[in-house]
Amino acid sequence: MGERPRIRASFSGGRSSALMCEVLQDEYGDTHEIVYTFCNTSWERPETLDFAHAVDRHLGLNLVWLEAVVHPGRKSCTHRVVSYETAKRNGEVFDAVAAKYGLPNQVFKWCTRELKTNVMNSYARSIGWLPGTYDTAIGIRADEPRRVRRDVAERERIIYPLVDIRYVTKEDVLDHFEGQSWDLKIEEHQGNCIACYKKSDRKLYTLYREDPANFDFPVRLDQLYRNVGPNNVPGPRKMYRGYESAPDLVARFEAAGPSYRPPIYEGGCSESCEVYETEQIELFPA
Ligand code: SF4
Repeated sequence: MGERPRIRASFSGGRSSALMCEVLQDEYGDTHEIVYTFCNTSWERPETLDFAHAVDRHLGLNLVWLEAVVHPGRKSCTHRVVSYETAKRNGEVFDAVAAKYGLPNQVFKWCTRELKTNVMNSYARSIGWLPGTYDTAIGIRADEPRRVRRDVAERERIIYPLVDIRYVTKEDVLDHFEGQSWDLKIEEHQGNCIACYKKSDRKLYTLYREDPANFDFPVRLDQLYRNVGPNNVPGPRKMYRGYESAPDLVARFEAAGPSYRPPIYEGGCSESCEVYETEQIELFPA
C-alpha cells in the first residue's frame, strides 16, 4: 500500500476546532495519516485543557500536547511533548517566550508564531514530516471573516475543513455541542489566553469584572518585560490596544463604574487563536 496523504490538524482548544477534528476523522480517518496537535500556551483556563482532553478521548485523536521551548539567539522556539496531566497551567510557557521576545501586542505579534506555529513545525520535523509533505488543517469556519491569505495558504498548504469539506457556521457548532456532557465549560470571552490583547475591550472588561485576578498575569508580564526588545514608539512596549499597558487597562477598568460598556470590537483571537492567521479578510463581503 502506498503512503497515505498526511494532514497535520491544529486543534486550538475551541468548539469549532473540535468539530474540525471530528470532520477530519469522519471524512479522512480511514484514508489519510492525520496527526492532531494542541499547543498549550499555559495561559488558558483549565476548562480549555479539560475540553481538549475530553475531545481527544471522545474522538480517539491521539492528540499530541505540545509546549514551546525557548532558545537564545536567532533560533525559533522548538517543542516539547507534554500531556493533559503535565501541561503547564500557570503562565510558565508564555512567560518564558515573553522573556525573550518582549510583550506581544498588535505590532509585535510573536505569540501565535512562537507558542504555536513554530512549535508545531518543530514537532512535525521530529516525526519526519518535512515541509511540503503534508497539509495543515485549521478550524476557521465558513461564516468567519478571517482566513489566511490565499498565497500564504497555498504556499503553506493550509486547508479549511469547516469551509471546504463541510460548510459549518457558528450556529452549527453550537447546535452540535449542545447537550454534550463533554462540551466546553466556559463562555466565549473566557477562551484562549485569558486576557489576550486581541480580545475586544468589552470582553476584557467583562473578564475584569468577573475576576480582577484575570489580569494579574499580564500585569506581572508588564513589570518584568516591558523594556525587553525594540519598540515602534519611544518608551516601553505596551500590550493592549491604544498603547495601553496591562496596569493602564486595569486602572481604567477599576475607575469605570459597573454600568460602563466598552465598545465592541471583534477580531483576532476573539473566538479562536489559529496558526498562520496573517490577516483578516472578508470571506463573504457584503
Ligand atoms: S490567544 Fe492571544 S495571547 Fe494567546 S497566543 Fe493567541 S494571540 Fe497570543
